[in-house]
Amino acid sequence: MQYSLGIDLGGSHIAAALVDEEGRLLFKKTRQTDISGGVKGVAADIGLLGQSLLKNLDHNKRASVEHVGVGVPGPIHPETRKIISAPNLGWEDVDLFSELVPYFPNQEIHIVNDATCAAWAEYKFGALQDYPNSMLLTLGTGLGGGLIYRGQVFDGGNSYGFEPGHTILVADGELCSCGRRGCLEAYVSVKALRREADKALKQYPDSLLLRDKSLDASMPYTIRELFAAAAAGDPAAKYSVDLYVHYLAIGIASFVVILQPEIIALGGGISHQGTEFYTGLQEAVARHLLAGARQPVPPVIPAKLGNDAGIVGAAISR
Ligand SMILES: [Zn+2]
Repeated sequence: MQYSLGIDLGGSHIAAALVDEEGRLLFKKTRQTDISGGVKGVAADIGLLGQSLLKNLDHNKRASVEHVGVGVPGPIHPETRKIISAPNLGWEDVDLFSELVPYFPNQEIHIVNDATCAAWAEYKFGALQDYPNSMLLTLGTGLGGGLIYRGQVFDGGNSYGFEPGHTILVADGELCSCGRRGCLEAYVSVKALRREADKALKQYPDSLLLRDKSLDASMPYTIRELFAAAAAGDPAAKYSVDLYVHYLAIGIASFVVILQPEIIALGGGISHQGTEFYTGLQEAVARHLLAGARQPVPPVIPAKLGNDAGIVGAAISR
């Protein structure tokens, strides 16, 4: 069995594992991301983590690991291989590739966008398998995603690639993490969900979300509690979740009109919802399609690989 090393560099954690040809993980390890030492410090952390994983293999197997893939939260310049910007790491124009070379002298190193990694992993081994024209959207701190087009990752003709979260939903709308206004991400991120729920809570002081929280105001409700309260019929929670689904559905409908994917998978923290969420979302998407009910709606389903999608995708990206 041939192994590759997959590393997922996130704003809070670095996760790494050896990955086999079937997308199975071996010896996964994680550590906190520490950006205080700059790119050299992060490269050292990645390098040592990767080396410690390689040491688990016997000499022959270790020598056969030819590929190290690192998924990073930002666009990568296709020629210089530099990370153009990674706001979660406070990086701009950073050459992680060159810093990693001394740690992996016998391997080929690839720096890849993390959302692209996740989409590729879902296509090869997860929810998008058998759908050569499909899409992954990750719902979390931001809205990321990847597009599979004719069985390949579509990353556009330039280095910025596929950024579904930064399409404009509302002209001059809410401020987005990218500095512009009205992006889809500014309406379907965790922050957006909280913003709308907090607004609604002002009108519903009896909400389930505020109960038992009075003793410690610094402990806000979790997103899981918000969805549970909405399912239980809590008006403030239901209002904000319904609004979230409404915005997400409009965003997805626009992607469907342009790209006509065969299927759309949702990953990320907010995607862990029951059938009702997915049915409601799909119905809302149908209402916003160009040809309305006459147009087939691609199934919207949960992604399969969870947090490991980034590692698997990095390991198999070339
Ligand atoms: Zn934006």
